[in-house]
Amino acid sequence: MKTLYNFSAGPSVLPNEVLLSAQKDLVDYQGCGMSVMEMSHRSKEFDDIIVKTEELFHKVMGIPENYKVLFLQGGATQQFAAIPMNLLAKKGKADYVLTGNFATGAYKEALLFGKTISVAGSTKDENFKRIPEQKELKLDPGADYLHICENNTIIGSKWKYLPETGGVPIVSDMSSCIMSEPMDVSKYGLIYAGAQKNIAPAGLTVVIIRKDLIGDPLPGTPTMLNYKVLAENDSMKNTPPCWSIYVCKLVLEYLLEIGGIPEMHKRNEDKAKLLYDYLDSTDFYQTHVIPKDRSIMNVTFRTSAEDLDEKFAKESKAAGLANLKGHRDVGGMRASIYNAMPKAGIEALVAFMQKFEKENRK
Ligand SMILES: *Cc1c(COP(=O)(O)O)cnc(C)c1O
Repeated sequence: MKTLYNFSAGPSVLPNEVLLSAQKDLVDYQGCGMSVMEMSHRSKEFDDIIVKTEELFHKVMGIPENYKVLFLQGGATQQFAAIPMNLLAKKGKADYVLTGNFATGAYKEALLFGKTISVAGSTKDENFKRIPEQKELKLDPGADYLHICENNTIIGSKWKYLPETGGVPIVSDMSSCIMSEPMDVSKYGLIYAGAQKNIAPAGLTVVIIRKDLIGDPLPGTPTMLNYKVLAENDSMKNTPPCWSIYVCKLVLEYLLEIGGIPEMHKRNEDKAKLLYDYLDSTDFYQTHVIPKDRSIMNVTFRTSAEDLDEKFAKESKAAGLANLKGHRDVGGMRASIYNAMPKAGIEALVAFMQKFEKENRK
């Protein structure tokens, strides 16, 4: 049984119900005589799993028929390269908005592939403490796509609007917010996510792509990064991450059971409010992101001194609250409160923060 609350940014907490269900079928999957970890990806049993998982994606996220869901490996980071390789062939131009580390990483990778990769907006000189507004963006109406990082995992910020692009497809990195709230998939050209933040164990990367964007890669695009090949083979050109796909299926079934993404969103709002309300009620802790752009998945904050932050990380761990130390680039603390974090975990965190404040206030 779990003995602590895990605030890790990823890989991260999974629902207990899902872990127990995986445990039940771990050795002998539904009486077939072997584990999902052991079976051929070409077996009937696994084919049922991957087909059902794709169906569940469409159902849970409301993905329209003209989109394909791909189950890949290589992480969101590999998509930083796959996206320009597959989408830049028409005009060779793309816009990137820099809102944090991963957004910047995606931009730098795209520079390897296109001549006209532009920064359409950036809040770097404000330490990424907010998301640029529409009127600040310099969008190229002739770009192949606009790339945004929808939830900035390290910084703790989230896009609360989708830019008007005049038809230029939006490509969104949803690694740390996928299925945390309802999203209108039809507004995107491509959504991608490393699954290990919110929907599965590590090893699975999901790409949701509008079908008309598939099929025109740059010359030299490797077979295993070519969306056309991957889509035509239903993510089975080679061995897919079978176990992670299976656990993802369990997560999707769990989501449906509790009432789908709308119910999960309600719970997430409720959890985040508990934490932000406390943070806003005291001057002992400061938040990094302006209130309007705060993430409900990754909450960043700090005390007034670095040594106190160190002490917080150490003592919180001893109190059963794991992985609250902030990312090395930002410092301070970060509580990742993904879908599977129960409200009791936030209550325990706030109680600890109150106690820590009392003991350390000068
Ligand atoms: C974690 C994360 C990544 C990197 O994901 P990998 O699967 O480790 O490559 C990229 N973007 C965002 C927003 C993330 O949270």
